[in-house]
Amino acid sequence: MGGVDLLDSLIALYRTKIRSKKWYHRVVFHMFDFAVVEVWLLYRRDSRDCGIPPKDVNSLAKFKADVAGCLCMEKKTLKRRGRPSQHIEEEQPEKCPKTPVEPRPSTLVRFDQTGHWPVWVERKGRCKYPGCSGIVKVQCSKCVTYLCFSVERNCFLNFHKQ
Ligand SMILES: [Zn+2]
Ligand SMILES: [Zn+2]
Repeated sequence: MGGVDLLDSLIALYRTKIRSKKWYHRVVFHMFDFAVVEVWLLYRRDSRDCGIPPKDVNSLAKFKADVAGCLCMEKKTLKRRGRPSQHIEEEQPEKCPKTPVEPRPSTLVRFDQTGHWPVWVERKGRCKYPGCSGIVKVQCSKCVTYLCFSVERNCFLNFHKQ
């Protein structure tokens, strides 16, 4: 199979299912699908070069889900610009929840080192840093995750370090 055929079949595997009457919407979504597949191929090649065992390398589906998760989480830190389009309907109910109860950040979001701020919250919750069971009132503003942030314990820092 040639390179272009392979790329086409990979794009077709998990194509973004958004219907739009505007041709340029379809072009943008195709470009997005194309970019994700290209980046995944680079990621897979780099993983192989770094000696990461194939079982630990994310599949295209998982990789694309992580990218989508990142983009959903970005909404919390980026202000929307312009009017939302009224011509786009999603075929499947895959929308991000507007107020997730307790979302787990994907590893891409967790370690992106962008816009993670400790914030005080009303309700207490259990620290999500592995091995810690502290009850705290501090969350990461982006991950929406309870984390210790005190002189004794800085799970906040450890949680975001790879
Ligand atoms: Zn965070
Ligand atoms: Zn903790």
